[in-house]
Amino acid sequence: MWVVKRAGKTTEVKAKAVVPRRRRFPGEPRVAHALSGPLWELAKVRGTRFNTGDAIGMALDIGAAPVGNWSGCHAVAWERNAPEFGDLAVGDQFQKHSYPWGIYINAEGKRFVDEGADFRNYTYAKYGRVILSQPGQFAWQIFDAKVKGQLRDEYRIKQVTKVTANTLEELVKKLDDVNADAALKEIKAYNAAVRTDIPFNPNVKDGRCTTGLAVNKSNWANTLDTPPFEAYAVTCGITFTFGGLRINTGAQVMSTDGEPIPGLYAAGELVGGIFYFNYPGGTGLTNGSVFGRIAGTNAAKAAKSESQSKRVAGT
Ligand SMILES: Cc1cc2nc3c(=O)[nH]c(=O)nc-3n(C[C@H](O)[C@H](O)[C@H](O)COP(=O)(O)OP(=O)(O)OC[C@H]3O[C@@H](n4cnc5c(N)ncnc54)[C@H](O)[C@@H]3O)c2cc1C
Repeated sequence: MWVVKRAGKTTEVKAKAVVPRRRRFPGEPRVAHALSGPLWELAKVRGTRFNTGDAIGMALDIGAAPVGNWSGCHAVAWERNAPEFGDLAVGDQFQKHSYPWGIYINAEGKRFVDEGADFRNYTYAKYGRVILSQPGQFAWQIFDAKVKGQLRDEYRIKQVTKVTANTLEELVKKLDDVNADAALKEIKAYNAAVRTDIPFNPNVKDGRCTTGLAVNKSNWANTLDTPPFEAYAVTCGITFTFGGLRINTGAQVMSTDGEPIPGLYAAGELVGGIFYFNYPGGTGLTNGSVFGRIAGTNAAKAAKSESQSKRVAGT
């Protein structure tokens, strides 16, 4: 005799054979992404190595519904030689988010993304994926002395892979694993394409762009002409996956039958359906706080009413 659930009703059926099927969404974010596309197993994990997705797996095993952009994630430019998982002593300082003031160069010596497409808050969480898809899964960020004062604090930690030089010719030779001749040609072409007639203004989308390049820069296109030049090596650091458990507005976990699972609440990164393709800065903690409060309040209410009904039943 087997117990099956259909349309919310549990019934017993007789069968001589069954084919059990366990939903498998491997918890470890890099493994989850290896299923959704190549190379994700090579990304660094920005957070704790203890977030293995166990809770998602346990909920799915009892019939919770998955939802959201499973092949999407929050992933950023991250120190190329950072450890495999997050390091509490360094925290988020492995990230390198000042690329709007400079340019990216890949192993082939090419620019590959519009560094100035928008304010970094709207591009940083999706550019990690772009770096991961480059040859060798790395890139260099290049700046000149004009913008040095605008680089974020994370550029001034000890644990950086950084090179400096007084000429571009010297700099490109120091970029590990990069085609130096191609990189020099690319930087010169970029410099020549900058609309220097438009003033640079880091406080607004200034429209100071390049024209005529295969990959143009839309804003903050400064020429790289003032030594010393600096370059920082980055790879992809994954923060969290966008897919997760389906919840309702009361933060109750929904089953694949479309009903709330009694007593099960969820909030934060293990919830799916919040972010798709991109993520605006600061919304991870906002999401966790808002749904965390709702989930906690409702879980406490449910626990209280259950213990009250047990007391009533006991009297
Ligand atoms: C480096 C970094 C920088 C970030 N910066 C920002 C930022 O500036 N702004 C922002 O809004 N968001 C930021 N985020 C995202 C934000 O931190 C997360 O969205 C948020 O912390 C998620 O909260 P959570 O409670 O869902 O998960 P977590 O905070 O990850 O908590 C989950 C906890 O569950 C534990 N756990 C896992 N499995 C088990 C198990 N089987 N048994 C028991 N315990 C278990 C884990 O150890 C962990 O303590 C950043 C994340 C990282 C990694």
